[in-house]
Amino acid sequence: MTNSQSVLSQRVVHLAESETLKMARMARELRALGHDVISLSLGEPDFDTPDHIKDAAYQALQDGYTKYTPVSGLPELTKAISEKFKRDNNLDYKPEQIVVSSGAKQSIYNLCQALLDPGDEVVVFAPYWVSYWEIVKLSGGIPVPVYAGVERDFKPTPEQLEAAITPRTKFVLFSSPCNPTGTVFDRHEMQGYADVLARHEQVYIVSDEIYEYINFTHEHVSIGSFPQVKNRTITVNGFAKGFSMTGWRLGYMGAPKFIADACTKIQGQVTSGAASFSQKAGAVALTSDLGPTKAMREAFRERRDIVLSMLEEIPGLQANHPEGAFYVFPDVRAYFGKTDGHTVIQNADDLCDYIMSSAYVGLVSGSAFGDPNCFRLSYAASEDQLREAIERMKTALGRLR
Ligand code: PMP
Ligand code: GLU
Repeated sequence: MTNSQSVLSQRVVHLAESETLKMARMARELRALGHDVISLSLGEPDFDTPDHIKDAAYQALQDGYTKYTPVSGLPELTKAISEKFKRDNNLDYKPEQIVVSSGAKQSIYNLCQALLDPGDEVVVFAPYWVSYWEIVKLSGGIPVPVYAGVERDFKPTPEQLEAAITPRTKFVLFSSPCNPTGTVFDRHEMQGYADVLARHEQVYIVSDEIYEYINFTHEHVSIGSFPQVKNRTITVNGFAKGFSMTGWRLGYMGAPKFIADACTKIQGQVTSGAASFSQKAGAVALTSDLGPTKAMREAFRERRDIVLSMLEEIPGLQANHPEGAFYVFPDVRAYFGKTDGHTVIQNADDLCDYIMSSAYVGLVSGSAFGDPNCFRLSYAASEDQLREAIERMKTALGRLR
């Protein structure tokens, strides 16, 4: 008889299931059993995709865009992305430096496959988005965290970045606005990182800007716009968050040409071009008025404020003040060692399990994001759901002694 574990590759045996997707799955399973679960675990806007973007996809299907596209994307989309990079980010990626993919997740996967040999290191700002860690490992790389906690608004210092770089460092990877913290690096902070990286010519930068349009400060800063690192920066972005297009599976990167070519080669052997009609709709999204995107951002900002004021009422939660994305990442150490009479809460995993089983509210433990002192709450949910969920959490946490 074959042991199923021996059939599977070591690669997949050592791969963790995506914790965000796992928590979303658990919420669905509990709901199917009849429980009234409020899931604040998945980072997915609850708005519908704006109508003009949907109309563009219907039109594309009518017009016969039902075939393979060039692997790196339809020319009208790569041109629209190149112009968007200039317009919004002051970045100079030509259309031939753009690779469109089936989501920003695939862009990051392509990059790791293209850049990493076994033992190469990737400096990852922590807390980090779950999949960075696993994709780097899956590609043979070694993730090296550079961590800052809630007391520093999750912003590592330039000195920490400097100290983490070794001769094996291939690139630095971070998101701003950040998933899971909502932290936004301002111009001065980004300049500090750029100055460090300017001194390390062999190190590339992968800047994940998928939450660019969900930014409550007055400015989004792209690290690739700093001249000293411009030629070594790969900028990843996508349509999922800013245009509420998670299911359309559409992302992209701008990269030095040789890296874009390498990623196209990989993608050409793995998935080919992204869905043709998604690409047509994506081109319309980028070239149309951003009114619906701004309206969603304002709704997220209002919810952020509601969530923060409600969390303040819960003793022991030390919440950060996120300036972007749609997450809040409170530190929950004050609850460690407490019990409901049955289980002792040892860490954020235990606390999330307790909140799920006693309040039917789905969160994601910070341990999946490199910070076991926190949990992530996604406020991409209706105001009513948020109010109800936080009330339930407050009651459940109030029972811990
Ligand atoms: N980067 C970050 C920081 C994310 O939160 C996500 C989650 N969607 C992605 C990339 C992947 O996005 P996509 O849906 O375009 O693959
Ligand atoms: N990026 C979102 C999240 O962090 C969506 C789920 C995923 O792809 O991980 O929840």
